[in-house]
Amino acid sequence: MRVGCPKEIKVHEYRVGLTPESAAELVRAGHEVFLETKAGEGIGAPDSVYEKVGVKILPNADAVFETAEMIVKVKEPQAVEIARLKPKHTLFTYLHLAPDPEQAEGLMKSGATCIAYETVTDRDGRLPLLKPMSEVAGRMSIQVGAYFLEKAHGGRGVLMGGVPGVRPADVVILGAGVSGYNAAQIAVGMRARVTVFDKNPARLEELDREFNGRLETVYSTSAAIAEAIKEADVVVGAVLVAGAAAPKLITRDMLKTMRQGSVLVDISIDQGGCFETSKATTHSEPTFIVDGIIHYCVANMPGAVSRTSAFALNNATLPFALALANKGYKQALIDDPHLANGLNVYEGAIAHEAVAKDLGKPF
Ligand code: NAD
Repeated sequence: MRVGCPKEIKVHEYRVGLTPESAAELVRAGHEVFLETKAGEGIGAPDSVYEKVGVKILPNADAVFETAEMIVKVKEPQAVEIARLKPKHTLFTYLHLAPDPEQAEGLMKSGATCIAYETVTDRDGRLPLLKPMSEVAGRMSIQVGAYFLEKAHGGRGVLMGGVPGVRPADVVILGAGVSGYNAAQIAVGMRARVTVFDKNPARLEELDREFNGRLETVYSTSAAIAEAIKEADVVVGAVLVAGAAAPKLITRDMLKTMRQGSVLVDISIDQGGCFETSKATTHSEPTFIVDGIIHYCVANMPGAVSRTSAFALNNATLPFALALANKGYKQALIDDPHLANGLNVYEGAIAHEAVAKDLGKPF
């Protein structure tokens, strides 16, 4: 199959759909891979590295879309990319169509077969192509928290791990799922004092067992959160209620009880955020201050660590990309019901029940 990988064009998106290693696997399997020139630059992979493994470099995105049957990307296609999609294309990328009717209409009109990373499932009903980005965001949230706690960056001037004789920072993590768990790992590793909240007692039990006293777990209630944040230096919002907006766990009133210069990192901002005062920010201006509290609400945190993120994403997507290329989308979707759950747009219609429902489209 002819597989194409254009350069990402969304603002501050430095990842790439195919790393040189993934492209090499596709070439080894007998496929032709076409890369838009400089598509790998954001992860430190120049055209020459791709050429070495047999990838053909094309001068622009138009050429990639014209040549390729399957397009592998990272972010949802932007308007100019949608305009290039034809019925011959299989598009494999993040789409996040539910809150984006305009994109949905465009993809339906294109006639392309669109498979979304975020709705591909695994045997346990989880979302394996979302997981690596939650891992990245979770681990990064503590790094970001530590940075903004520094006085010169507006924070309280507190060192995460403290020093002998001086208490470490207090880190509160709301949500013990993939990103919350990864945040906890890094915070514990930095020797902060860590408290993790969740609504799921079984999950708290797992963390309690694994961390063996190196963090505290608390069942998530409004009262317990209100108490914990008074002493917190960093609060990480990492909750998710599937298919719903994030619950507002810290209200404006609760914010007033927090210490000046403490930091809120709202990973859940892509679902509306779990702090009442959150609003989405970008990597060029990642923070804002409300009542003396620093808010970091970047909706695409993994984009900042593009190299790590692109490799982590490719580790998860490559087996599926290979199946699609080796068998063609029809057979690949028949053979793997989990990949079939990724099908969002087919023959001009929305092909995923939950996405169709959210968009008010027939299924
Ligand atoms: P997950 O499903 O693995 O975990 C969510 C956890 O939140 C679950 O354990 C759930 O029990 C818990 N939860 C739900 N309601 C709660 C409440 N009221 N109090 C405490 N805990 C509660 O989800 P995840 O993969 O960790 O993702 C978390 C969020 O981060 C999602 O919205 C995801 O889209 C987002 N995310 C954002 C970025 C970014 O760049 N900002 C990157 C990756 C993921």
